[in-house]
Amino acid sequence: MKKAFVNKKYCVACGCCLTTCKMGAITIPRGVYAVIDDVKCIGCGMCAKKCPASAITIKETATDE
Ligand code: SF4
Ligand code: SF4
Repeated sequence: MKKAFVNKKYCVACGCCLTTCKMGAITIPRGVYAVIDDVKCIGCGMCAKKCPASAITIKETATDE
């Protein structure tokens, strides 16, 4: 199963991914960097496409659900 991961070193907390995610899986706690709820994330990749900082990667997770 695919999930999105944020590289917090690159994230500029712009919020583009947050508004793009139709699953509501992304939050930016205290406006610092984006955090993805991997329970809600379906790995669709829309957030990664929108991120201007290329901070999001989609990875295959170890467990296949
Ligand atoms: S991969 Fe899709 S579901 Fe997961 S956080 Fe990004 S936009 Fe949301
Ligand atoms: S779109 Fe990219 S830079 Fe902007 S908040 Fe999301 S992960 Fe961070």
